[in-house]
Amino acid sequence: MTFKHGGVMSLADKLKNVEPITNKSRCAVCFTLSQLSEADASALNDALKIPVDSPSRITDRQISEVLKSEGHDVSSNSVYRHRQNHLEK
Ligand SMILES: [Zn+2]
Repeated sequence: MTFKHGGVMSLADKLKNVEPITNKSRCAVCFTLSQLSEADASALNDALKIPVDSPSRITDRQISEVLKSEGHDVSSNSVYRHRQNHLEK
């Protein structure tokens, strides 16, 4: 591959270097899970996995608030994204 502008990266290369938003290293929930004790991490995973149509569903905001109360900086948006992209099916 040749570069038209010397050392400047091509658009194609730039796109290749963009980290996908689903990248787990950038996910606050995945990061928090990696920091928690095994018991806490599995409790959090269980809470995250409750299906939307279940009466015991805990909302993204509720999970975010519990995590924040424990000192973990996790927004409800992060919980939402994690639920969309990172839950084991
Ligand atoms: Zn995640």
